[in-house]
This record gives sequence, structure tokens and C-alpha cells, in this order.
Amino acid sequence: MLPTHSNRIALISVHGDPAVETGREEAGGQNVYVRQVGEALAQRGWQVDMFTRRSSVQQPKIVEHCDGCRTIRLTAGPEDFIGRDHLFDYLPEFVNQFLLFQKQEGIQYPLIHTNYWLSSWVGMQLKKHQPLIQVHTYHSLGAIKYRAISDTPAIASKRLGIEKQCLETVDRVVATSPQEEEHMRQFVSTNGRIDMIPCGTDIKRFGSVLRAEARQQLGLDPDDKVVLYVGRFDKRKGIETLVRAVGQSSLRGQANLKLMIAGGYTPGQSDGIERDRIVGIVNELGLTDITHYPGRLDVELPIYYAAADVVVVPSHYEPFGLVPIEAMACRTPVVASNVGGLQFTIVNEVTGLLVPPKDEAAFAQAIDRILSDPAWRDQLGQTARHRVEIGFSWDSVAGGLGYLYNKLLAQPVSVEPTPVKTVAEVAA
Ligand code: UDP
Repeated sequence: MLPTHSNRIALISVHGDPAVETGREEAGGQNVYVRQVGEALAQRGWQVDMFTRRSSVQQPKIVEHCDGCRTIRLTAGPEDFIGRDHLFDYLPEFVNQFLLFQKQEGIQYPLIHTNYWLSSWVGMQLKKHQPLIQVHTYHSLGAIKYRAISDTPAIASKRLGIEKQCLETVDRVVATSPQEEEHMRQFVSTNGRIDMIPCGTDIKRFGSVLRAEARQQLGLDPDDKVVLYVGRFDKRKGIETLVRAVGQSSLRGQANLKLMIAGGYTPGQSDGIERDRIVGIVNELGLTDITHYPGRLDVELPIYYAAADVVVVPSHYEPFGLVPIEAMACRTPVVASNVGGLQFTIVNEVTGLLVPPKDEAAFAQAIDRILSDPAWRDQLGQTARHRVEIGFSWDSVAGGLGYLYNKLLAQPVSVEPTPVKTVAEVAA
């Protein structure tokens, strides 16, 4: 559906650059979401500018992705990688740079869609300067994250306060799963307006190769039993549970059992450290010979998903989780933790299996059930494909978001009357 109002919108993702490679530290689902949503909206006639923070002097300031969709990198703080827990102090500069960009380009965005709590703050500040509709997607909720960890960062209380203020005041919050919506109500606030629009995946790219051909391309045998993990190396992703589950598998000892752990990392950074820890556990359990680390996957990702018998998502928590729907689009069933958005995308016993998080024995049993029954594996995989086709294409996501934007743009917009700095002051 074509927009009926001003069709120029801004997606703001301060720390999740939509133009960078994903699959390594701090670049995952949010980056993919913003990029894919931006491109899919552009295909529906929207003019989409995606704003992020420039995190290296080598990065171009503007990247054109397709007609009507570009990434704009603003300078806010050092042009270097800064972890998301240390970005807050640079946000006022981001706000000023955004206002300056608008002034220089002679643009005023009527609607912004912010991503993650840092960007929600930026959006709420921008609303003080101009009539503006703000839509927000959290991607992760501090209230959930901090329940699960003991070493909460210094920024935690600020984040919780801003997440609450955001839910209670922005024009619309987009939950990506019914579970995320429920958690917002339970742990953030009972006030505020929420719409549920899921994340999506590229159903042409994922699903283009069938298992036999994929295995040939990867040099795998038709009777190999392939268990695959795809994602960042982060403790909360629960890779340790998967490794220990494979260690307990009843197929252990069979030469054709293979564990693949895919994802990028930087030595010495937090993902490199987690990878070293995982490799240590693999070695300690005597799984070295059957475990492969193909690194960060890009164009070959659909081939790996298709080649696998089962994709395992052992996360401690996921608000949505793109990896499962990518695997499902490739007709590969998923064994996942029974948490958050995974309870929405995966239908237990129909498109995969859900088991309690961190429960190695339950994961082992679920993986074994699928590995030992190829006909059932195929049946689960086929139903999984249908589920993604029906509910999780980027095009249908962009359709849902476009409808929401149009609805909000049709309403009168109020301006908050307390500007922090005028545009003239910003430009001075
Ligand atoms: N990813 C990738 N290459 C890799 C590992 C991951 O492109 O080697 C992508 C993956 O396909 C998915 C995203 O990174 O689109 C991870 O998103 P998800 O929501 O599953 O997890 P997050 O990283 O946001 O926690």
C-alpha cells in the first residue's frame, strides 16, 4: 500500500548500524531488522533514511542501499567502536547532528521509528523540537535482561527509567511477539500503546536451496547428522548448553554426527572471549573432532541452514530471534529454549521443539528425536516453511508497519513546547 501522507521517514538505530556486516559483536538482529524493514518500506514507496552512529573513520557517511533507502552515519563521540552500555553520554550530540542534517538537507521528518532504548531517548528529545510521530521497537528489554544477570551495568537504572518513559509516552511501541508485549505490560508499564508486528525474513533467499544440494556444496555426506548453531558468541545465547547437549547425545560416538557453530568474532573482544570459552568446553568434552567453526556466514548462510538436520537456538532469552525463522524458511526444524519470542515463532511438535532453557538433557533428547527420524524432520521442516511464508516475510512486516505509519500520520500531531536547543543554536 502506498503512503497517503508525507512519505519521508527516519529509522533511528544509534548502535545497530544497518549497513554493517552482522553476526559478530553487537551486530545482530537489530541491524538486520532496520536494514530489511528500510528496504522493504522503500519498495512500498516510502523514502527511508536510516540514522546510525559513525563508529569508524573508514565508514562512509552515507550508504545508498536501493532506490529510496540509505544509511546516514552521524558523528556522535569518537568515531570508534563504543559498547552500547557506554553510549548514552554521546546521545545529545547525536540529537544535534540529526537536527543539523535536517536543516542542511531542508528536510523535516514527520515520523521516526526508533530502535533500542538509546534511540528511544534520541526520539523523545527530537519530539521537543518539532512536530513528530515516534514509533519504537525495543529489541531487548532492560527489565528482562537485568533479571537474568548478576553484574548489572552502571547504566541500568537510567535504561529502565527511559524504557518506561518511552512506553508511556511515544505514539506507538511495536512489540515483535505477543510474549514481548506481555513482558512490557508485566515488567515495564501498564500504560502506553502497543501494536504487535513481528520481525521477518527474506523468504526468497532463505529456502532457495534444498538439503541434498546444500550438502553437496558443503562437502557433507547425505547421511551426516548435522546440528547447527548460528549467531553471535554471547553467554546469553546459551551455546554452552548446546555443546553439553551434543556431549550427551545418544548418537555420540557415531562418525557421522557433526556440530557446526557459526558466527563471527574478534579476538580479545567479548565475543572472542566467549568463543575461546566454548572451544575450551568442546575440547574438554572430547567433541573437537566433530565440531566445526565456519566463522561468520554471509551469502552461504542459506546453504548451511538447508544442509542442517536441526538448528538449535539455546538462548536464555529472545524477544524475537531471527535465526529460527531463517532456519524454518530453509525447511529445517528448530530446537529452541521455551522463552520469549521463540514461543511464538516455533510451534512445539509442529515446526520444531521447545525445551526449558539451560536444560542440557532436554536439549539432547529433542535433538536426538529429530536426528533419528528423517521423515519427521522433513515434515516439521515443511510446516516450518509454510509458517514463515504466511507470517514472517519482510514484505508482510513492512506492510504492517506502513499501515501503522499511515494511521499515525493521519492523526493531528502535538508538539512538546520545551526545546533543549534551537536548530540555529545547533548550527552555530
Ligand atoms: N548472522 C549472520 N552471520 C553469522 C551469524 C549471524 O548473518 O555468522 C545474522 C543472522 O542471520 C541473523 C542475525 O545475525 O539475521 C542474528 O539475529 P538474532 O535475532 O537471531 O539474534 P541477535 O544477534 O539479534 O541477538
